[in-house]
Amino acid sequence: MKTHWIGDVISGNHDQSEVHLKGWIHRSRGSKRLRFVVLRDSTGTVQCVIKRDVVGDDAFETVESALIESSVEISGMAIPTDREHGHEVQVSDIRIIGPVDPSRPFPITESAMAEADGGETEFLLDNRHLYLRTGRMTTMLKIRSSVFGAIHSYFRERDFIEYQAPNFVAGAVEGGSTLFEVPYFGRKAFLTQSWQLYAEAAMPALERLYTIAPSFRAEKSRTRRHLTEFWHAEMEIAWSGNEEVMNHGGGLVRHIARTLLNERSDELESLGRDLKLIERYASSDYPRMRYDEAIERLKAKGVQVEWGQDLDYSKEKILTEDFEVPHFLTHYPKIAKPFYHRPDPEDPRYVLCHDLLAPEGYGEIIGGGERTWSESEILERIDEEGTPVEPYEFYIDVRRYGGVPHGGFGLGVDRVCAWLAGADHIRETIPFPRDSRRVTP
Ligand code: ATP
Ligand code: MG
Repeated sequence: MKTHWIGDVISGNHDQSEVHLKGWIHRSRGSKRLRFVVLRDSTGTVQCVIKRDVVGDDAFETVESALIESSVEISGMAIPTDREHGHEVQVSDIRIIGPVDPSRPFPITESAMAEADGGETEFLLDNRHLYLRTGRMTTMLKIRSSVFGAIHSYFRERDFIEYQAPNFVAGAVEGGSTLFEVPYFGRKAFLTQSWQLYAEAAMPALERLYTIAPSFRAEKSRTRRHLTEFWHAEMEIAWSGNEEVMNHGGGLVRHIARTLLNERSDELESLGRDLKLIERYASSDYPRMRYDEAIERLKAKGVQVEWGQDLDYSKEKILTEDFEVPHFLTHYPKIAKPFYHRPDPEDPRYVLCHDLLAPEGYGEIIGGGERTWSESEILERIDEEGTPVEPYEFYIDVRRYGGVPHGGFGLGVDRVCAWLAGADHIRETIPFPRDSRRVTP
């Protein structure tokens, strides 16, 4: 019976020195009489010392021939060492649970990892199912789990209700060009790009709601920050405008950074992340800048940009390179944004919206704003855009029956993970990344 996690053994966090461990052989070397097996479980690795004259010939030879990633059960004494890991295990008994066939050794070798150099080669992507158990990926998955947990705790501590929307939908949220069409019993349906429109329908029922769910976008060009299936944390709140929604966006991102410092500082450091940066993101206010000022700044840097354009990543990158903390960009031109953004009553050439741009060149992590909430205004915006009304009838009904000011945002969870973990590419943060070229494994 397993009595300890390896993490507890190496940190000396155990009251008895006899331990029973279960895990996988991470490395193995030795001589005819003595073997050193580095055993891995989900919490860490520990060196296990196996002596022929202690475990007997049969057990010793089984271990000698066992390949990397064989699963094993070990009993022994955990003793302090002054070497790399604080403790090692003097093995009294070892048993192979799941062997690895010598004709098919574990393909992810140290040389394959070295070739990838902390990034991801096609080979590693093809073997993603096996790559998941390597150190860097395991670390990312733990960080990711804490990010998800932080999003839930932020909203739940503030009495938001978790709410689910359908994934098969009839209309676009973010524009038709990135819609995935799916055959649907002789009709056409689409995979949802966002939870938002269906959340607005429940806004008069729940007033404060959130979700974490996948969104789907047929992003044709492969970039370091787009997946075709990504995890989207979204919120919607009644009786609110752009300001209050932005306050929640900033609050949520600070809470995620703080949670990572509390739960995952070892993991962040093992990825080479400077914790002082994360501390700064966790404790700073995020400044606000109007779109027009961003355009001025870009022009001053010699960037070719025209008023009215949405800012794509090439511009966000330049803009955020000299940011020390995330910045909100607000008041985009109406022509750059979809119909549901509410025109600014003070100057209807702009909409009451915001994007939150992460520093260090990471760019947009949140898009949000105030919604067009009166029937006449939404019909006018839909008409201006030339969008068909029919798929949005349910959405317009929300305005027909007691419309109220409201707003919300969507945060790209994978992007936030990439930024806070300092990853070069968004796909490093998700177990099975999907992009225009890859749906396997
Ligand atoms: P971008 O301009 O960067 O493509 P967007 O403006 O289309 O993003 P929104 O519709 O505002 O994105 O979506 C809200 C958030 O979801 C974004 O701020 C981003 O963090 C995330 N997001 C959007 N598209 C993707 C994607 N394809 N892959 C990963 N995250 C995404
Ligand atoms: Mg956006």
